Amino acid sequence: MDWKYSCYSCEKKYSNDKMISRCENCGEPLWVEGDFKYDWKYSNLKCRDIRRYSSALPVKFSGNVPYVGGTPFRKSNISKNLYLKDETKNLTGSFKDRGSLIGILKSIEFDYDTVATLSHGNMAISMASLSSVMGINCLIFIPYKIPVERIYYIKIFDPKVIYVRGDYGKLYDISIRIGEDKRISFINSDNPFRIEGQKTTSFEIIENMDWRVPDHVILPLSSGGNASAVWKGFSELYKADLIEKIPTINCAQPKACSPIYNAFSEGKKRVTRIDKIESTIAYSIINNDPPSGNRILRKIYETGGRILAITDEEMLDSQKQLALRDGVFVEPSSASAIAAYKKLKEEGFIDKNESTVIILTGAGFKEKPILKEMEISPIVDINKIEMYMKGLKI
Ligand SMILES: *Cc1c(COP(=O)(O)O)cnc(C)c1O
Ligand SMILES: [Zn+2]
Repeated sequence: MDWKYSCYSCEKKYSNDKMISRCENCGEPLWVEGDFKYDWKYSNLKCRDIRRYSSALPVKFSGNVPYVGGTPFRKSNISKNLYLKDETKNLTGSFKDRGSLIGILKSIEFDYDTVATLSHGNMAISMASLSSVMGINCLIFIPYKIPVERIYYIKIFDPKVIYVRGDYGKLYDISIRIGEDKRISFINSDNPFRIEGQKTTSFEIIENMDWRVPDHVILPLSSGGNASAVWKGFSELYKADLIEKIPTINCAQPKACSPIYNAFSEGKKRVTRIDKIESTIAYSIINNDPPSGNRILRKIYETGGRILAITDEEMLDSQKQLALRDGVFVEPSSASAIAAYKKLKEEGFIDKNESTVIILTGAGFKEKPILKEMEISPIVDINKIEMYMKGLKI
């Protein structure tokens, strides 16, 4: 399949003979343009995971490829016309697996023997897990002092971990130089192949809805990589004349760190880095200098979507509501999209007859417990339990 890199902003094209991620001309993130086919629409292909979309991905599937994608889609009980795309059911509990898989496959094709990432969250877990299955070394840079639960979930897969002391935010630029010097393939949030993998979420949503297009899509926003990918998936199908419109793309940022929301609410075209991050429980969506910020901002404007800033309190309420109504346990970052949905409905932006898909980006299991008002449960001796139950009103 023929493909090249292209810059959404200055439209410069780059040939496909090496792995690159930023435009030399304007510094913006690159993505892939290819002569993709969307022939699965007409096929009775049994395959339900990401390999289903091979003809629209710039990689060859070979070697040990874990099952990624093919996630559940269902109606929510929270509201009429609300649907959930449950990415928490991916191999390591988040959508990151889609992008990691395609990024690692491409690195193997380009003869790298080490992949790397900058993350202390879902991306690190996903890269560590998939690289071990796919047989390539993995290097992970994490900030010095992160919660031990996370280190355990990363280290179980035996990657090489380097703790970084000092301003972790500076590492993005440094990583590009380290990657070139040491021939290490960094699959960061804006890596063009990560975007390719993650665009398949939209292909699945469209198939899950029998080729109807939802009116609105909502997801949490950090670097802007995933939302760009989701937009790209819909946009490819639209350009191929397979769907009649692109849904509005709507995003939730944590109030404590919301540079893209700030630019949006002031009607600006460019995102300004913020220096002060307040404390928040939304660990997975804190990015004060988002690498794909300008790109997703432009795409959100184009679709007529919105960006909202969500408080920790609102995330916890929505997390609880989703657990009670739909039985899914997501992390607070992911619950921000539910909170955004409620606000958009209250504001009348989403009409009750319009359909909305919320992408549940990450599972709650791996988080440090945040129990608001933990009910104390009784401890009853085994010999007295029947007696105890007799007197109990349930
Ligand atoms: C990474 C992540 C996001 C944000 O994705 P970006 O591509 O950085 O915008 C949202 N939710 C969860 C659970 C994540 O792990
Ligand atoms: Zn450019």
